[in-house]
Amino acid sequence: MSSYDVIVIGAGPAGYPAAIRASQLGLKTAIVDNFRGKNGKPALGGTCLNVGCIPSKALLDSSKHFEHARDHYGSHGISTGDVSIDVPTMIQRKDKIVGQLTGGVAQLLKANKVDAYAGTGRLLKDRQVEVTPMDEGEVQVLSARNVILASGSIPIEIPNVSFDGKHIIDNAGALDLEEVPETLGVIGAGVIGLELGSVWRRLGSDVVLLEALPDFLALADADIARAAHREFKRQKLDIRLGTLVKSAEVKDGKVEVTYEQDGEQSQLTFDRLLVAVGRCANTAGLLADDCGVSVNQRGQIEVDEHCQTSVAGVWGIGDAVRGPMLAHKGTEEGVAVAERIAGRPSHVNLELVPWVIYSEPEVAWVGKTEAEVKSEGVDYRTGSFPFAATGRALAMGEPAGMVKVIADAETDRLLGVHICGANASEMIAEAVVAMEFHGSAEDLATICHAHPTMSEAVHEAALSVDKRAIHRVN
Ligand code: FAD
Ligand code: NAD
Repeated sequence: MSSYDVIVIGAGPAGYPAAIRASQLGLKTAIVDNFRGKNGKPALGGTCLNVGCIPSKALLDSSKHFEHARDHYGSHGISTGDVSIDVPTMIQRKDKIVGQLTGGVAQLLKANKVDAYAGTGRLLKDRQVEVTPMDEGEVQVLSARNVILASGSIPIEIPNVSFDGKHIIDNAGALDLEEVPETLGVIGAGVIGLELGSVWRRLGSDVVLLEALPDFLALADADIARAAHREFKRQKLDIRLGTLVKSAEVKDGKVEVTYEQDGEQSQLTFDRLLVAVGRCANTAGLLADDCGVSVNQRGQIEVDEHCQTSVAGVWGIGDAVRGPMLAHKGTEEGVAVAERIAGRPSHVNLELVPWVIYSEPEVAWVGKTEAEVKSEGVDYRTGSFPFAATGRALAMGEPAGMVKVIADAETDRLLGVHICGANASEMIAEAVVAMEFHGSAEDLATICHAHPTMSEAVHEAALSVDKRAIHRVN
């Protein structure tokens, strides 16, 4: 039996960085993964690289170019004639990027001397791992001093709405449509619904998002959600709140959706239906009955604040455990666990994991919303600044949105920073750094920001906490 210091099950953005870091720290490491790429072959990188973060951003980029060429180039004096989209070429570009990155992970693992097994791993007792090969080959059992469970997540399927891979689809299906559907229904106006709904709307689909909750983007700060909602409405992304989908049926090549709103049932028919109602931990079949690791009612592996499970030497990270289902959160946990196994101190601050929605405008935040701060009874101050008042946003043709800063009224410590606007995904990093260093609104306000940049709005919002913004009336 081959034995290792560390075996990682799952090579997504949580698992593969854990394996690389463990190996860098001198630990003999193996990784087991069972993801199949579009070509049917094993593909490393998990959901994120294959059917998540990266392919969605590739299509967001392509569709943004298309929309800008069609609708916005004219105002720059650029004429293009009729603009058309060749969907197969756009998908090929996306697949090429995915291939580059998943191949890159394979190379990195090899270069770091991590043994990679293409197969399904199952944790047995005493930190043994059974590996069933994806293709031919014999089942083998490996043993390890430490096992890191990083099996990720899968889409939630709701009752009476079954995926058929063609009409009723999940994220993977919506990243691989062969043509622009005339109508696209999306169940759930969450992160996937907004990102992938935006892709196909920009390319010409009539997109309707059916959202069960009465509030739009309930996770985000209410002012930011309102600003984003206004923009999405303007773009004709049809978001219907308080709409609970009850069932969907494929009839004559179309999908008939039945939903309930204000106690009344109604129906809508779409060419395609994307179901994006959240994801659940992918732990079915991962754990032998006697392996000792506990799983909660939602199927998540139970871990403490250091990602340690109920069994010494067995760890859980990424989407398979509690906390936000975000790639960078999983990566931080993976690296931290590898450090801990090597006897080094490490910690992941789940309070300061940034969120980004890559719509247009982008939405990004870190820390608490105003509603959270209020409900905790904290005395706070806020400052905000609209991008419409910054020169760079106007020059870029991106005046939508705002920055909002929330700070403790007594200590001025930053409690939350919320952005809706172009490049919010990049700008939020400044706030994360400031908050990790226990920074104050005053700190952000006294740092010199380059002009003209979008980040001047962060500066001005921080100044406005103390009512001393320069480019707006306080
Ligand atoms: P995964 O990426 O799911 O990887 C788990 C891996 O383990 C998979 O390869 C799986 O096949 C394998 N596996 C599972 N069980 C076994 C087993 N028993 N044996 C062997 N292998 C196994 N997050 C962001 O931060 N930014 C984004 O922009 C973003 N965009 C997204 C867009 C979409 C459309 C989706 C669906 C998700 C997006 N996410 C994004 C979320 C992100 O993809 C996940 O948070 C991230 O992939 C979780 O990483 P992970 O390593 O925990 O799990
Ligand atoms: P989500 O939790 O973001 O949104 C799901 C939405 O579906 C919710 O608003 C929920 O109220 C609604 N819903 C649930 N059941 C419903 C029903 N029967 N009818 C109508 N609406 C219903 O989930 P998601 O969009 O599927 O994304 C899953 C996760 O993947 C995200 O939470 C996030 O962690 C991750 N992700 C991140 C990014 C990013 O970081 N940019 C992008 C995509 C996905």
